[in-house]
Amino acid sequence: MTERWFPDEMPMPAANAETVGWWEAAAAHRLVVQRCTACGHLRHPPGPVCPRCRSSASEWSALAGTGTVYTFTVVRQAFIPSLADKLPYVVVAVELDGAQGARIVSNLVDVEPEEVIVGMPVEVAWEDMGPELAVPRFRVAGHRGERR
Ligand SMILES: [Zn+2]
Repeated sequence: MTERWFPDEMPMPAANAETVGWWEAAAAHRLVVQRCTACGHLRHPPGPVCPRCRSSASEWSALAGTGTVYTFTVVRQAFIPSLADKLPYVVVAVELDGAQGARIVSNLVDVEPEEVIVGMPVEVAWEDMGPELAVPRFRVAGHRGERR
């Protein structure tokens, strides 16, 4: 049983041929990025072609799940009604450790929005949204947060 931060009514991501491997890894609580097997470039989000060398050959490269806040915003208005009691919440771009600058957009959880600063260390916190769907959220590194 993992923690939950967002309601079931959140729009579910739709996997496609390029992202299904990423979502399969996420379901197993493995944070990965796409690695070009021709030049070694790491990229996220997944795409069909390496932006550096144009190769279509790639594999999934596992990350430690740590990173730093690259930028963030605080959401104060619910875009779906069931989010109203989650306000305010933090949308964050995390620069992933060991990912050659690749970033992921997610949520920073278990934190007061006014405590968030650019550059703060964060770590992945998996949220199981269903039996085959896990979404990586992030929390302040080393902080076992309390539910809000
Ligand atoms: Zn490449």
